[in-house]
Amino acid sequence: METEIISQKAYIELESKFGALNYAPLPVVLERGEGIFLWDIDGKKYYDFLSAYSAVNQGHCHPRLVRAMIDQASKLTITSRAFYNNLLGPFEQYITELFGFDRVLMMNSGVEAGESALKLARRWGYRVKGIEKNKAKIVFAHGNFWGRTLSAISSSSDPSSYTDFGPFMPGFESVPYNDLKALEEAISDPNVAAFMVEPIQGEAGVIIPDLGYLKGVRDLCNRYNVLFIADEIQTGLGRTGKLLACEHEDIKPDILLLGKALSGGMMPVSAVLANDSIMLTIKPGEHGSTFGGNPMACAIAHEALQILIDEELAENANAMGELFRHEMNTIQSHLIEAIRGKGLMNAIVIRPSGNGKTAKDVCYALMKNGLLAKQTQDHIIRFAPPLMINEEGMLKSCAIIKKTIEEMK
Ligand code: PLP
Repeated sequence: METEIISQKAYIELESKFGALNYAPLPVVLERGEGIFLWDIDGKKYYDFLSAYSAVNQGHCHPRLVRAMIDQASKLTITSRAFYNNLLGPFEQYITELFGFDRVLMMNSGVEAGESALKLARRWGYRVKGIEKNKAKIVFAHGNFWGRTLSAISSSSDPSSYTDFGPFMPGFESVPYNDLKALEEAISDPNVAAFMVEPIQGEAGVIIPDLGYLKGVRDLCNRYNVLFIADEIQTGLGRTGKLLACEHEDIKPDILLLGKALSGGMMPVSAVLANDSIMLTIKPGEHGSTFGGNPMACAIAHEALQILIDEELAENANAMGELFRHEMNTIQSHLIEAIRGKGLMNAIVIRPSGNGKTAKDVCYALMKNGLLAKQTQDHIIRFAPPLMINEEGMLKSCAIIKKTIEEMK
């Protein structure tokens, strides 16, 4: 049955009535995006400071991505991996050369990349490191977020992620983030196959570890023959001012996870990169996905990566991030407890005691004033616009944030 819909309220009611209620969106119904802007169905324009959780680093509906998608969609979308296709091999060569790994495993969502990495790590643990059958352990950091599957929530320290979803995946342990001593204690256990970590924790609230942490992780993983899995699904692809956040400390993980902006937001595409000694532990028939490595995904991901490079989006993220934090530091408000970030992955921490205003209230007020951002945790607002934002766009956006927060006194 067709439903005649006229108002934002009507759309919201439809979702409330017929959808699973697993999100609490801001009450705005969007229908168009271009670059750093989004428009709601009434034609109101917003600066997008969420970027679909960093999936649209290249900006909404980048013309080169739209072209790549349409061209490929009219030729061939999927073959399955039962056959070869003419885009997967060239793309695999391109992405492995770009990031300096022997091989890539193409998947779809970010959480699938994480699951795949853990399977690879366990395999490697048994077949290369020599861990006794079914004894392999994987270590994670408190506050991690890598998705919503049962494995992902089994490693979570957030009760809203795991409560009443047990029993959980065995063989997972977790240590405090940014704590090398605790990590050493955990991974000196010879049954540990891997440590999986975000270079900056995104969903936990843009938690930036001390400089030297990632290098320390690299050294410890080398010392104890443990794989270092870097989850760069949010931090990667220019977001923090470098193509990869690991580059800030000049280190290379054993397994690199990419997703989100790997397709510039056009469709779910993720990738697991590793060298032969890890990747070749999985043989034909032992892992896969109907959609992983499909020609559409390859055409789009190839273009999405090339756009990041051609448009120097990591460099721009670095410069615009400096400008953002500079402007935020001029805000006079007791609501602000802290401002932090790297590149265009930034957060403002709202003081819980303040004047009763929460991060959610600030997000509502920002929306009214034409800027979309979302709180993470209860008291932190993440500010992560598309990386192609220019100085004018950034200054206008900062003016909205400043005015909104100062008016909330
Ligand atoms: N890893 C990190 C660091 C993430 O931030 C996310 C999603 O927010 C994921 C993995 C999961 O990605 P997806 O939602 O595509 O499964």
